[in-house]
This record gives sequence, C-alpha cells and structure tokens, in this order.
Amino acid sequence: MNHVVVIGAGLAGLSAACRLSGQGYRVTVVERDDRPGGRNGLLQRDGFSFDTGPSVLTMRDLVADAIGSAGQSIDDLLPMRRLETAYRGCFADGSTIFVRHGVEAMRAEIAETCGTDDADAFVDFVGWLRRLYAIEMPNFIDRNFDSPLGLASRPSAAAALLRLRAFGRLGPEVRRRFRDPRLQRLFSFQALYAGLPPETALSLYAVITYMDSIEGVWYPEGGMHAIPEALATAAEKAGTEFRYESEVSEILRSPTGRAAGVRLADGERLAADAVVCTLDLPTAYRALLADLTPPRAVRKARYSPSAVVWHVGVRGVPQPPTAHHNIHFGEDWNDAFTALIDQGRLMPDPSRLVTIPTLDDPAQAPEGCSTYFVLEPVPNLDGVVDWTTEAAPMRDRLHRFLETSGYPAEVVTEELVTPLDWQAQGMAAGTPFALAHTFAQTGPFRPPNVEKRLPGLVFAGSGTVPGVGVPMVLISGKLAAERVRDYLPVGR
Ligand SMILES: Cc1cc2nc3c(=O)[nH]c(=O)nc-3n(C[C@H](O)[C@H](O)[C@H](O)COP(=O)(O)OP(=O)(O)OC[C@H]3O[C@@H](n4cnc5c(N)ncnc54)[C@H](O)[C@@H]3O)c2cc1C
Repeated sequence: MNHVVVIGAGLAGLSAACRLSGQGYRVTVVERDDRPGGRNGLLQRDGFSFDTGPSVLTMRDLVADAIGSAGQSIDDLLPMRRLETAYRGCFADGSTIFVRHGVEAMRAEIAETCGTDDADAFVDFVGWLRRLYAIEMPNFIDRNFDSPLGLASRPSAAAALLRLRAFGRLGPEVRRRFRDPRLQRLFSFQALYAGLPPETALSLYAVITYMDSIEGVWYPEGGMHAIPEALATAAEKAGTEFRYESEVSEILRSPTGRAAGVRLADGERLAADAVVCTLDLPTAYRALLADLTPPRAVRKARYSPSAVVWHVGVRGVPQPPTAHHNIHFGEDWNDAFTALIDQGRLMPDPSRLVTIPTLDDPAQAPEGCSTYFVLEPVPNLDGVVDWTTEAAPMRDRLHRFLETSGYPAEVVTEELVTPLDWQAQGMAAGTPFALAHTFAQTGPFRPPNVEKRLPGLVFAGSGTVPGVGVPMVLISGKLAAERVRDYLPVGR
C-alpha cells in the first residue's frame, strides 16, 4: 500500500488525511503537539476552556465533506448548531445591528434599523453574492492550477465574473448598494479576513461575506476544538496513524530526487512514497527544505495583518443583547486600515471582535463565569510595533474597552497572545493569517501546492492554495490529496 506522511495535524493536514485514508492510502500524520488542531487550538486554565484560533465557523458543508471522505458522518462526530445571530454589530454612535441568519430575518432587521430601501437592497445583494459564490467556488477556489494560464481555461466563468463586477473594488460596490454606512461596514469588513482593506479589496472577496452573512455561522458542541478532534477521529477510523509529540526536522529524498519520507527530530526516519507538508510555507522551506530556494511568491510575499488575542475568564455573565460574536466597529474606518496595512501601526480607533462561547456553552467556564475571546487586528511583524513593550498597554486598553462596553470585566484568568507568539509558533511575519489575498497572491499566483523540484512533495495550509481560514484550508487538504492521487495512484 502506498504510504503518505502528512506533516501537521492542523485542519489542512487532517482534511488531507481524511481524504487519503478514505481512498485507501496508508497515511501517517506526524504532529509536534500532543493533540490535533494546530491554530485551531485549545487552552485550558483554572477551570476555563478557550479556543485559541478560529471562532467564526462557516461552511459546515466543507467540514461534513472532509469527514465524509473518511466514511464518517458529521452528525455522529461533530454535532453543531447554527447561531441565529451571526454577529452583533456595535457602532460608535451606540447603535447596534444584528446579522440574522436567513434572508427574511435579515431583511426585517435592516428594515427596522436602516429603512426599507436598504432592506430591498439586501435581497438584491444576496442574489449577487450567491452568483459570485456559485462561479468562484468550482472554477477558481476548489481547483488545482498548474499555471496562471489555467485561468484562461474557463473563459465563460471569467466573463460571468466580469459581468458581476467582481474585479471592481468591494468598498464602492457595497456603498453603491447600501445607503446606511453601518451596513456598508457590516457587509465588507470580511475582506480583513483575507488580509485586505475592505475599501480596496476586489469584489471577488465578497464570497467571504457570503460564507458568514448568508450561509451562516455555526458553533460545534464542545467548542471549536471539537472540529479537529472530529476530523482526527474520522481519519483514525479510516486507518490513519497519528504520531503526536513528534517533530519533523527534514524531508527525505530518494536517490532519484523524489520525496521519500521524513526524519524526526529524534533521528527516526519514516519512509513514505509521498509527503504532504502543512507548515507555514516560509517555515517549511527554512526548516525542512534548506537547500531549496523558496519560490518567488514566498520570498516576495506580502503578509496579512496579524492579531492580538486576549483570552479572558471573568466572573459574571453578559446579559442580552450581547451575542456570541460581537463586532465593535471603530468610527475611523479608512484611516484604521491605512495605519494597519500601509503604515504597520496600531489602528488609532480600533475595531474589535468579542466572542463569548459560554453564552451558548456554559460548560466552558466555572459556574457564574464566562470566557471571552477578544481580538484586535494589529500589524504583522513587518510593521513598526515593538511587542516587547506594547503587550502590557494593549492588555490594559482591552480591559478598559471591555469595562466601557458593558461586559463583566472582573478577570479570573487570562492570556494575551501577540504577533511575537505567532512567530514563535513558526508563522512568518508573526501573523496566523499567512499571505494576504491580494490578486497577485490568489489562485494560480499564490505559492503553488506542488514543489516541481521535489516530486512527491505536496503542500497544504493557508500559505498555499486556495488560502486562509477554516473553509479554505479544508479545501487545501482536498487539493493536496488530489495532487497525491495524480502522483501516486492508490493501488500501486
Ligand atoms: C486567532 C485566530 C483566529 C482565527 N479566526 C478564524 C475564524 O474565525 N474563522 C476561520 O475560518 N478561520 C480563522 N482563523 C484561521 C484558521 O484558524 C487557519 O487558517 C487554519 O486553522 C490553519 O490551519 P492549517 O492546517 O493550515 O495550519 P496549522 O493549524 O498551523 O497546522 C499546522 C500544524 O503543523 C504542526 N507543525 C508545525 N511544525 C511541525 C513540525 N516540524 N513537525 C510536525 N508538526 C509540525 C503544527 O503544530 C500544526 O498543528 C483564525 C486563526 C487564528 C490563529
């Protein structure tokens, strides 16, 4: 049986392992941590459980597809429910708008808060998003490219995107559609997930708005960490072997120059017919492939902004109308992105996300207590912020922000994660969000998932195609598995 080693039990590696073991390959996943998840991690302290990475789960179908590829069912392994309120948007003037699930519910919310013209515009917006998604997903996202010429192979899809103005700018497109500036922010801030200012991101990236605002936001029973646990269980049931607390130090070559397995930090060699590597790409080249010059797209990469995350366990429970996900929009919108992305400085008037899993899952904290995940976008380490001195003031600002925003703020336990921590975990430029999704770093222009100089080595994860975020890295595992299948037919 052909043997594939997958380096890393993050979501990309787990997605690849599910598919490969489901297709009959012998698969070994090698992970340096003692559990699966990677960035989708878990911190347990003083009776509180914190999800350390993704908090907004979208596109449940993609998780179901990965689990299903290993012959298992998401209903059995990963029960979850949709949040009827995807987000509570809180604005500087003290007003709020709830992003409701379902077109009718959201239309009613907009009619009440912003008027009927914008409510009608929303229905039209949903139609536009659905069309964008239907074209982009099969033609440009869930697809391996061998070169930029691949873009030309689907001329009718490209023409349809042109007709939908997908190559125009998102900010002006959303402004053209909605009068209320609060809606303009609510339906374009998602560009930041792709590392781009909403004003100048291409409208192509409105598919991210489709994923959360239209398809909905989910919360798995037991917290976000249940996702990697379920994927690992599915892969294991399909025959994948997991080697935890094992760090890969080198990718081995055969005498003919093909990937031939991995060497572990303790010297052990695991022979394999193909290797799927899910480390951040620059780190993979530096640490495991030192003799190969990284491709230009890696050397010249422009990275997404980073984030400070403050995990806080507090005494008390926030009261309605607090939601599971609360976005506090700063007043000063465009200048915030100029500072963050162009100048590498902190946002002068920051927007922040406060996620409170305990509102739906009180078991994540001791009785009468709550967990908060407070995220502020900050520059990556190419910027000018010195985190050795900035961490403490940042923590105090976030604490004041919680107090003044009406959240119970008596801290019982806490952990602040800064770009230096992301860097220490092997993430280039100290950002967990990899290369920004500029057009020049998207699709066939993103670092490819094959290394032509080393046949049998395939990449997955947010540094390669299709990109960053839970949905994208699950697809990256699928695309990697397809690459392995092209290279190594199962039965040989
Ligand atoms: C704070 C934060 C918030 C986020 N919010 C969201 C969100 O709300 N929604 C969303 O969709 N996405 C979100 N994301 C992004 C999403 O979490 C990531 O894109 C995704 O989890 C990355 O998965 P991955 O498998 O590519 O990488 P990783 O999870 O980093 O997996 C790589 C794995 O490789 C292991 N590894 C590294 N080096 C070695 C080695 N030498 N040997 C063996 N193993 C090794 C690591 O331990 C890790 O487990 C967020 C991320 C963070 C950090």
